[in-house]
Amino acid sequence: MIPAATLLERLAALIHQSVRDDAARHGLLPIQLQVLAYLAHANHYSDFPIAVAEYFGITRGTVSQTLGVLERKGLIVKQPDSRHGKRVHLHLTQSGQELLDDSWASRLTSALKEARDVDAVSLEEGLRGVLVALQRQNDHQAFNVCRHCVHFLEEGEGYRCGLTSEPLEPEQTLKICREWTAPKA
Ligand code: SF4
Repeated sequence: MIPAATLLERLAALIHQSVRDDAARHGLLPIQLQVLAYLAHANHYSDFPIAVAEYFGITRGTVSQTLGVLERKGLIVKQPDSRHGKRVHLHLTQSGQELLDDSWASRLTSALKEARDVDAVSLEEGLRGVLVALQRQNDHQAFNVCRHCVHFLEEGEGYRCGLTSEPLEPEQTLKICREWTAPKA
């Protein structure tokens, strides 16, 4: 195994352990904390139950139970989609965001900011390349950051999704999307 692969394995194990510890500290199961973190970063095409099931590779039943717990604990709220009849978007409450701020997700962000001082562009590009390659190998849906999607369009001062033709708010362009498609190599 090449050293970079060993490092990635070690990072994955550390993050996994932190998720378990943080979840226990907050009285949650690890998957419940992970779903909360996912929803904090999912764009408006990806913040509903079926997208959660696809992202984690879990059943709709497990998603439904998980979301039920998060909702009862006041960590998320459901918001009906004004244009798509039965669809509901899932948003973090202030309590949900505060819980996440006191968990592995914020420590990982701090660590990444420190690493960014070393070489921000090559670190992000390298990690993105590994992620895309693994998703291709495993035939997984390619959730990834909107700005690096083949459909992402910059138009004057604004942004647009070339797949849906809808305008994108700047903050949406930094979130992850279930419709993400890799640019051609
Ligand atoms: S540009 Fe791509 S990633 Fe962004 S919203 Fe559209 S499909 Fe999703």
